[in-house]
Amino acid sequence: MVEMQLRRRGIRDQRVLAAMERIPREQFVPERERSLAYSDAPIYIGSGATISQPYMAALMAEALDLGGGETVLDVGSGSGYHAALLCELARRVISIEIVPELAALAEDNLRRAGYAGRVLVVLGDGSAGFSPESPYDAISVAAAAPEAPRPLVDQLNDPGRLVIPVGSLEDQDLRVLVKGGGRLTSRIASHCRFVPLRGEQGWRP
Ligand code: SAH
Repeated sequence: MVEMQLRRRGIRDQRVLAAMERIPREQFVPERERSLAYSDAPIYIGSGATISQPYMAALMAEALDLGGGETVLDVGSGSGYHAALLCELARRVISIEIVPELAALAEDNLRRAGYAGRVLVVLGDGSAGFSPESPYDAISVAAAAPEAPRPLVDQLNDPGRLVIPVGSLEDQDLRVLVKGGGRLTSRIASHCRFVPLRGEQGWRP
C-alpha cells in the first residue's frame, strides 16, 4: 500500500509514510471487509460513513505539514483511522463525530489499536468545531461542506492549517487553508468525493 498507492503517487512526507506503514488498518475496517483493508478504495463502515482511500488520508495528513508538537482537531471520526494517523504525527488529537454509533466505534478501534491516551473522541457537531480545546494548530475535516465553516477557521491557530473537502454534494475540491501572519491563503490539493458534512455549518437535511 505505502509503495504502490502512496510513494508512487507522490506522497513525500516521510513521517506520513512511516505512520501509515505502522498503523494496523485492518483493525479499523469492519470484520467482513478485512480482506480489503489495504485496497486502493474507500470502504463502507456503516451509518453513512466510509473510511477514506489510503491515498486520500495520506494527502490530507501531508497537507497539514505536522512536525509532532501540534494539537489537532479531526472532524468526522468514522472508524478512527484518520485520528490514529494524526496521533502518529502530532502531540494531541481531538476527534469529533456526530453519529453516536460511530463515535463509539472510533473510540473502541482507537483503544484496541493502542491510541487511547493520545486522543479524545467527542460526540458532537464538528461543523462548529470544538471550542473547549481550541485553538488548533491543524484541523482535518473528513466530510464535504458547501464552504469552510467559519467556526473552524476561527478556531485555527496562527500559524495553522485546515484541510477540508469543499464543493457540491456530488464532488468537491480538497482545499488547504493556511493561516499565517493574520492572513488566510488557500490552495486546492486534489479533486475528491466525501460524504456530506452535517450539522449547523454543513448540509442541512
Ligand atoms: N475519518 C474517518 C472517515 C469518516 S467519513 C475514518 O478515518 O474512518 C465522515 C464522517 O464524518 C462520518 O463518520 C460522519 O458521520 C461524520 N460527520 C458528518 N458530519 C459531521 C459533523 N457535523 N460533525 C462530526 N462528524 C460528522
